Amino acid sequence: MRCGLLVALAAGLLAPPAAPGQRDPIRVLAFWSANVEGDHVEFAREALQFYRRAAAAHRFQFEPTSNWDDLNAERLEGVGAVLWLNDFPHSASQRAAFESFMENGGGWMGFHVSAYNDSETRWPWFVRFLGGSVFYGNNWPPLPAWLRVEDSSHPVTRRLPKRFLSPDNEWYSWRPSPRANQDVKVLLTLEPANFPLGLKDTIAGGDVPVVWTNTKYRMIYFNMGHGDKILTDPRQNRMFEDALVWLARRP
Ligand code: ZN
Repeated sequence: MRCGLLVALAAGLLAPPAAPGQRDPIRVLAFWSANVEGDHVEFAREALQFYRRAAAAHRFQFEPTSNWDDLNAERLEGVGAVLWLNDFPHSASQRAAFESFMENGGGWMGFHVSAYNDSETRWPWFVRFLGGSVFYGNNWPPLPAWLRVEDSSHPVTRRLPKRFLSPDNEWYSWRPSPRANQDVKVLLTLEPANFPLGLKDTIAGGDVPVVWTNTKYRMIYFNMGHGDKILTDPRQNRMFEDALVWLARRP
């Protein structure tokens, strides 16, 4: 028996029992919605699998939920990072709990439509949190795009090539550009060579950041998140995993 247990431990089949004094694992809480645009649900389902594996590799505890009322103080207690895969909170109490979480050092990683905002969204705190950027336009259909790394020394982008072709996505542009905010650090931008990007709807040109962080918070936004191609590029996937590690700290 004992020999069998040792063999299983050595093979990595069993996690060793927690040593006395060892702290609880870092917790990652991933929000998604099943009742939104089909391409966004598809991405979320794949991202849940991806981050479940990534969290396990780093011994984080991964907790998916499609109940946005889980954005409450009790549920967020002890959570290191929150992920929004394909939606954002719509009720005042969910939003208030998230604001308090972030203002007190919580971590956030948002994808694609999670940062969508317009005159209907009515959440000024969130627009400031993003760096002031409001959704302006998008390309259609989803297309691959060349991305330029703006800072190769950042923990999230250090393993990326200086430029790479990111798989099919519906890309968003923003007015104003988040770059206009001096607290924002832009990490990836659409290269000018992409423009005009799109067929039915096009992004004509200009400065279009796609990954950035507002340095006043522990946060990162990825514009990727539309359809079933996003997680098909190993280099980009490394960035998504590195971002989780960068973000997930003990609250
Ligand atoms: Zn989309």
